[in-house]
Amino acid sequence: MSTAGQVIRCKAAVAWEAGKPLSIEEVEVAPPQKDEVRMKILFTSLCHTDVYYWECKGYTPLFPRILGHEASGIVESVGEGVTDVQPGDHVLPIFTGECKKCRHCLSEESNNMCDLLRINCDRGVMLADGKTRFSIKGKPIYHFVGTSTFSQYTVVHVGQVAKINPAAPLDKVCPISCGICTGFGATVNVAKPRKGQTVAIFGLGAVGLAAAEGARICGASRIIAVDLNPRRFEEAKKFGITEFVNPKDYNKPVQEVIVEMTGGGVDRSVECTGSVQAMISAFECVHDGWGVCVLVGVPKIDDAFKTHPMKLLSERTLKGAFYGNYKPLSDIPNVVDKYLNKELGLDMDKFITHSVPFADINKAFDYMLQGIGLRCLIHLDA
Ligand code: NAD
Ligand code: ZN
Repeated sequence: MSTAGQVIRCKAAVAWEAGKPLSIEEVEVAPPQKDEVRMKILFTSLCHTDVYYWECKGYTPLFPRILGHEASGIVESVGEGVTDVQPGDHVLPIFTGECKKCRHCLSEESNNMCDLLRINCDRGVMLADGKTRFSIKGKPIYHFVGTSTFSQYTVVHVGQVAKINPAAPLDKVCPISCGICTGFGATVNVAKPRKGQTVAIFGLGAVGLAAAEGARICGASRIIAVDLNPRRFEEAKKFGITEFVNPKDYNKPVQEVIVEMTGGGVDRSVECTGSVQAMISAFECVHDGWGVCVLVGVPKIDDAFKTHPMKLLSERTLKGAFYGNYKPLSDIPNVVDKYLNKELGLDMDKFITHSVPFADINKAFDYMLQGIGLRCLIHLDA
């Protein structure tokens, strides 16, 4: 029986207050409006960005809210004007969109800074009418980055829905919708190490390890991994990393350690921590003359990046990468196809280290806060 046009009642994990465990509630999910898609979420995984907005340290609080942005699912129904996807399509919701009309989407140089659908962590409502599609007994529940995937059904703008090959296993491709593309793309699309070059990766969560995989696939000769959590090094051994550095083991800045290890600095570095200190180290450890550093981590609201301008004048390059420089709708279906054809070179099983039923979603938060494992897959139907 079709549910199109009707309110759907389903389970969602609601964040009522900053830092308090999510609670599984029955929510009402309104039908999609113009340019919107309602989808059934089958799998979602936790990314550190969800944790920042749940902890809300320094960010504007917006509660009650349904978090979540790394996910996979199936279109249930579509709103007026939607022709790109239809019920039954397999899709990945993407936290940043592509309207295909604005100056960014039309630019050959800009990839994913869409004027309309660029990530917005502070907006908790839909663009069509400034309202939420989620409610509990009439009380509105806010959205998160337009995706809110910690719900069995969610409503997303069509410009944030990537239609993928239905042959792709929805559990395995779930982390492609954020962490994998973010890290992998930061290396292969932005840092672009040449064969034989040295690469430093700061932060060994799923994003950093995807960046390390990118370096391996580009043919890097040395991949130096930096993390403060020694537990991360065990997991990272499965990822072609050649050396590990824990800044805590040295009584000098880690950039000096890396410069010494490499006789002048690495050719490329990719920062995937969210720590401004690591961002500065990642920049200062690249070689003068040609070194390129790419920042990926989401900083704290009042962070400031401080370095001596001479570091830049001596021909180092500092870049930032958002969503791995991929265009969310135009590129992601190809990334999924490449994964299926084994051309991407990534084994998703290495990234999905834990899996829990929906009722245990708070365990995924515990794992991330304790730095245990990489991605924890949450089964919304279980
Ligand atoms: P994660 O928590 O799983 O991994 C981060 C790792 O960084 C941890 O292992 C931690 O121990 C390490 N770390 C923290 N401070 C460090 C320091 N000073 N030096 C060295 N290592 C340090 O997180 P994740 O989900 O892999 O995400 C990584 C970062 O990427 C986060 O900041 C996240 O918000 C960001 N992110 C950015 C985008 C984007 O498009 N730019 C998209 C997704 C995630
Ligand atoms: Zn993310």
